[in-house]
Amino acid sequence: MLLGAHMSISGGFHLAIERGKELGCTTIQIFTKNANQWKAKPITAEQVDEFKNTQKAFKIWPIVAHDSYLINLGSPKVEALEKSREAFLVEMERAELLGLPYLVMHPGSHLGSGEDTALETIAESINILHENTAGYKMKILLETTAGQGTNVGYRFEHLAKIIDLVNESDRLGVCYDTCHTFTAGYDIRTKKAYEKTFAEFDHIIGLERLLVFHINDSRKGLGSNVDRHWHIGEGEIGLEAFRLLLNDPRFSQLPFILETPKDKEEEWDKKNLSILKKLISE
Ligand code: MN
Ligand code: MN
Ligand code: ZN
Repeated sequence: MLLGAHMSISGGFHLAIERGKELGCTTIQIFTKNANQWKAKPITAEQVDEFKNTQKAFKIWPIVAHDSYLINLGSPKVEALEKSREAFLVEMERAELLGLPYLVMHPGSHLGSGEDTALETIAESINILHENTAGYKMKILLETTAGQGTNVGYRFEHLAKIIDLVNESDRLGVCYDTCHTFTAGYDIRTKKAYEKTFAEFDHIIGLERLLVFHINDSRKGLGSNVDRHWHIGEGEIGLEAFRLLLNDPRFSQLPFILETPKDKEEEWDKKNLSILKKLISE
């Protein structure tokens, strides 16, 4: 079972792998740079070696990248859009350099320009980025969002539209965040609701696009459009949904990655991981 959590790269990329291993993770997610800054120091060949050697030794796979929170590939402002595209290209280069198969991204915000315009701009951004990264192995994964503020990506139709407008769409996948999707209005708390939500995902996007799960409970309720991750079983989603997910044979090969609050200590990751492990039936 591929189960893990988002890990800090503080002090070195390879330390994220060591931190994850210590908690019993078999997969992890990282930011390849400070997620709240535009700038990033280039990655050295030595850092790449150390990272890849550590990954090989500890057998953690896949390691997923997540992009910076500042990037908005759907921005209606020319300057911000240019800056976002440049920064995202750097994110792609860094993921490829470290051998990370996926770069998870939040599609973007329309900031008043309207959802359709933003979705078209996002697709155009990805087309430009794909052209600039011909031959790359890494894939961009569009994350389902909560629909907070003017964020797009909170309806399966939004992601389907982007995929439809992207030329090399075989280079695109989807990351399903259980907290975001729940507060966007997709229920998974009962067997019936769960089956309905994933049937809808399959119908609109296609389950073959689904490559990563962010496994978070939610502080806020169904349809609230608020993005507040919470500890497994202690939020509005509850344990039954996670039991259904972790035992669904359609998803048994996919990575499940926690992004729950850490409160400085990694004790919470340990606790959440052990709750999830107990839900997996032998
Ligand atoms: Mn995210
Ligand atoms: Mn997420
Ligand atoms: Zn979130």
